[in-house]
Amino acid sequence: MALNFSPRSSESDLETRGPVKVLILGGGPTGLSAALYAARAELNPLVLTGMQLGGQVAITHIVENYPGFPDGVGGPELVDLFQKQAERFGAKVEFDTAVEVDLSQRPFWVKGYNAEYLAETLIIATGATPRQLEVPGEVEFTGRGVSYCGTCDGWFFKDKDIVVVGGGDSALEEGIFLTRYANKVTVVHRRDSLRAGAILQRRAFENPKMSFVWDTEIDGVSGNGEVQAVTLKNRKTGQASPFETDGVFIFIGHTPNTEIFAGQLDMDEGGYIRINPHMETNIPGVFAAGEAADPHFKQVVTSAGMGAAAAMQANKWLDEQKD
Ligand code: NAP
Repeated sequence: MALNFSPRSSESDLETRGPVKVLILGGGPTGLSAALYAARAELNPLVLTGMQLGGQVAITHIVENYPGFPDGVGGPELVDLFQKQAERFGAKVEFDTAVEVDLSQRPFWVKGYNAEYLAETLIIATGATPRQLEVPGEVEFTGRGVSYCGTCDGWFFKDKDIVVVGGGDSALEEGIFLTRYANKVTVVHRRDSLRAGAILQRRAFENPKMSFVWDTEIDGVSGNGEVQAVTLKNRKTGQASPFETDGVFIFIGHTPNTEIFAGQLDMDEGGYIRINPHMETNIPGVFAAGEAADPHFKQVVTSAGMGAAAAMQANKWLDEQKD
């Protein structure tokens, strides 16, 4: 099928780049793995990094479950290695964020802050963003005691008391990391059992600085310029009580970064892009991979694998268009 290469009319003064054969949105493990495979297929992929350079793994202190690193590897180091490997084969990585897309005709049109891009195929690897509690005081005290990143902000809580919210791997992993700095880490979880894996649970239970408050939600964050307390509400009794703390670290899952595709790509009720086992979306030539399309596994290794698969399919799809 012939492609229609007439660019979209745009009122902006931005330069139009492309069409490129493969445009990848997102510079985390998914996007960079897609870039590696697309580059090695000589498709000259262009990666737009998005705002979070290297994706979520770049703010992870240490990754212990990415194969090939028996002693673990720092998150920023891992993603830097991904990028170097992709660039070695000709991938281009640019610091720009897609803010608008038109997938109604080909080439697909993507508007960023720096330029507009035309692409024969698009690989969406935009990942996910930490979910908020949505309680009073949370937004007000973000950066003043409320945080979503232990690696980024842990240092500010030396010898302080911290509350960690959540019962998954992130909450325990980050909570354990925060005990390096904090005097005391109290994990507040809404149920009476954890979702986190067994190894992390054992490490957390054995850590003398960690304790747990079960069946409890945070109802609000309060303070005077900086966080001083949270309101704990027991879900079984309904009883609410203040709990003094210097910080609140929130790890209650993630929301996929897929808003700009709403109305154009099929998504599930959680906003995850629906894909088939070949990473294909409902629009031919548009692929999605990693946490933007994966409500289930969400590991660096699974996201990287999905990125590689998406690039292989994009290559195949481009070949088929020549027939
Ligand atoms: P998650 O597994 O979805 O866990 C989120 C936790 O937050 C759950 O315990 C959940 O409670 C709780 N929660 C959700 N909404 C809440 C709310 N509004 N108020 C209070 N609590 C709430 O998310 P995650 O821990 O970020 O992990 C995401 C994925 O990454 C998972 O697949 C995980 O295995 C993976 N991960 C792996 C590692 C590792 O292997 N080292 C490290 C980090 C993350 P419920 O349990 O009651 O639902």
